[in-house]
Amino acid sequence: MEKDQLYGQAVHLRHACETMAVMDALETRVRRLNDSPARADGHYVLYWIQANRRADSNHALAWALRLANTAGVPLLVYEGLTCAYPNANDRLHTFILEGVPGLQADLTRAGIGYFFYLRRTPAFRNDMLYRLAQRAICVVTDDYPAFNVVDHNRSVPQRVGIPFYAVDASCIVPMNIHEKRNWAAYTIRPKIHRELQHWLKPVPVEKPAQLWNHALIPQDVVKHRTNVTVETIPELVASCAINHSIAVSQSFRGGTAEARRRLTLFLESRLYRYAKESNQPAQRSTSDMSPYLHFGHISSLEIALAVKAYADEHQLLPDEYLEELIVRRELAFNFARFVPNPKTLDVLPEWALKTIAKHASDPRPVTYTYEQLLRGETYDDLWNATQQEMLTEGKIHGYYRMYWGKKIVEWSPTMEDALKTMFRIHDIYALDGRDPNTVTNILWCFGLHDRPWFERPIFGQLRYMSLDGMKRKTDVAAYIRQVASPQANLL
Ligand SMILES: Cc1cc2nc3c(=O)[nH]c(=O)nc-3n(C[C@H](O)[C@H](O)[C@H](O)COP(=O)(O)OP(=O)(O)OC[C@H]3O[C@@H](n4cnc5c(N)ncnc54)[C@H](O)[C@@H]3O)c2cc1C
Repeated sequence: MEKDQLYGQAVHLRHACETMAVMDALETRVRRLNDSPARADGHYVLYWIQANRRADSNHALAWALRLANTAGVPLLVYEGLTCAYPNANDRLHTFILEGVPGLQADLTRAGIGYFFYLRRTPAFRNDMLYRLAQRAICVVTDDYPAFNVVDHNRSVPQRVGIPFYAVDASCIVPMNIHEKRNWAAYTIRPKIHRELQHWLKPVPVEKPAQLWNHALIPQDVVKHRTNVTVETIPELVASCAINHSIAVSQSFRGGTAEARRRLTLFLESRLYRYAKESNQPAQRSTSDMSPYLHFGHISSLEIALAVKAYADEHQLLPDEYLEELIVRRELAFNFARFVPNPKTLDVLPEWALKTIAKHASDPRPVTYTYEQLLRGETYDDLWNATQQEMLTEGKIHGYYRMYWGKKIVEWSPTMEDALKTMFRIHDIYALDGRDPNTVTNILWCFGLHDRPWFERPIFGQLRYMSLDGMKRKTDVAAYIRQVASPQANLL
């Protein structure tokens, strides 16, 4: 055999092995959640998007495509938005809807079907997933350990009558790799670092063997499809039976294109400052990716690969950023995966529970009601500004967000009240709320993933943060000015 031929075969073999390895890697992310048999005469595979609202860098979509190609049928993606989820409001609805036209265009270009359904009022049908599933071979969805996805992935598999797969497209190192709950970043970090080289790779892209054809959905279902364009979003939102008193974010627009625009901005003008300035809120050196990660408009994998490539090219060290994006974020997913009812103080480590109990009846010299906190009516101008940032933008800078939480602990009549207030505000106002990160970080204010500090009133051994500390370490006045005129600074 010619040397060239031999070389060609070797390359081919290596490529095949690499492809197999990538495919196996994909399988590691999959959990089958029922035993129902596939529908032999099904017309398509159905991917139900619940968390990862994007066409790229999406392992769930890749898995669904693989199943569709194996069965020789096309792929249909279904996304629904209901008026009935808790705290549905203009801000959250608008952000989600802003992602729809781009996703539709991306999937259509790829030969994949996309069906979006807006359930505007409770009188609208509530069975679109099941109706689309009636013609499907199987259903694939997102494995996402928070909000209503957890309940859906518990109840729907038993009712759908065909195989139901949940795929982790949220984490870089799959959640399935971890066998148990990790109690701190230092326990999960070595594992993530060991595994990372296997997972920090682009998602393999298969082309659909069969292109989508609209005729596969019966007319009485097709007629319920909602057409979303950029222009119609305000009127669609206005037509929904949701809370219209929560205004859209002043700066954050939803969608993959917007996520990528912000990512580019971060790479070019913030990443080089991140390690030094990420705890300086007025410097605005963080990536603002959390709303886009929460709604799945971009993947942490895409962000990490882009950050690594940019850092390599420009000789930057992105370690601090990747620690937050991967280690801290995936610690949160690990927690949410292994702790079934996480929104309670009961899940805290022993030392935190003890110290909270010991100080439960300490006098609270200053307390505020939920309404006073919500309106930002405290004696502390910095805290009021952080709350204002939440009300107008839908997130708070990470460093001051810790301060925000710690002061709610200090000013609430009980720890339980403090916990409730933080969740309530996040559930309604935060674009990145209702996330594994929400639960973990709110509980961090009560000692989760932290360690005991010096004993003091109210807090016991929980970490404390003071206004003097913030003034010493950060430019409080500049931040307060920014929040008062956000348009100029946050874009
Ligand atoms: C009380 C409190 C509540 C919080 N609520 C949320 C929330 O609802 N949703 C949310 O995504 N984050 C939350 N965080 C964590 C953190 O504040 C935000 O992730 C961060 O501020 C988002 O801004 P960014 O994208 O510019 O962050 P960057 O600093 O640019 O970080 C990039 C990404 O890394 C991840 N990350 C950063 N910090 C953390 C952290 N401490 N834990 C886990 N992942 C992190 C996020 O996905 C973030 O988008 C909360 C923190 C506290 C103290």
